[in-house]
Amino acid sequence: MGLIDSHAHLTFPELHGQLEAILERSDEAGVNQIITIGVNLSDARTAIDLAERYPQTIRAAVGFHPHEADSVTPADLHAMAELWNDPTIVALGEMGLDYHYDFGDRSKQRSIFARQLAEAAGRPQPLVIHCREALDDVIPLLLEHGFEGRRVVFHCFTGSPQEAAKIAQHGWRISFTGIVTFPKSTELQAIAREYPSDQLMIETDAPYLSPVPVRNRRPNEPAHVHHIARFLADLRGLPYDDLVEETAKNTRDFFGL
Ligand SMILES: [Zn+2]
Repeated sequence: MGLIDSHAHLTFPELHGQLEAILERSDEAGVNQIITIGVNLSDARTAIDLAERYPQTIRAAVGFHPHEADSVTPADLHAMAELWNDPTIVALGEMGLDYHYDFGDRSKQRSIFARQLAEAAGRPQPLVIHCREALDDVIPLLLEHGFEGRRVVFHCFTGSPQEAAKIAQHGWRISFTGIVTFPKSTELQAIAREYPSDQLMIETDAPYLSPVPVRNRRPNEPAHVHHIARFLADLRGLPYDDLVEETAKNTRDFFGL
């Protein structure tokens, strides 16, 4: 079983024109599946195209990122819901709230997130949540829409142990990017060290967040997920191959790959 990069943005401009080389390098690094995330309508369509072109390797998850909230219209929400019917779509999102960058007006962010949750509630796919400094608003919205105990991942988790515990309380999980490899991420490393082995998932969030030891290499790419796997294997004290197998199995089960 090979590595899976459970969250990357292969469609983002930083990676344009490099897809063949990126896939070659990820293959060499032992990565055999990549979930690419589309964050608005046109990006979602490109993500689905990629998944159709590379059915062995690429799957798609699409939704409106909170950064996009200000420009989303009711017609856009309807069009996104149509895309969710596409068989290449393994998850809905990323969607959520970002009070760190605040690119979208907060009440607009909440309404676009809530509208997507209402649409997602009746569907079988899991959710990919983007949450930054907004957990106290994200949790009630998820509960209101019936997601208690359902498949929900808070991708690129960077919160506190208390926040991780709150997420776990509702049966949801978190996933780890290269941020866990940064020397200053001691709190996150403590969370990752104890995180249940049957839930652990890893992601690059490429083109962002290059992990140690390639932290200065931009853009980040799915091949680098092996550095995150190596780091976590050392942190958790188990052989690299075992960690790869665990995370791949968890990711397959979660996304139904
Ligand atoms: Zn993302």
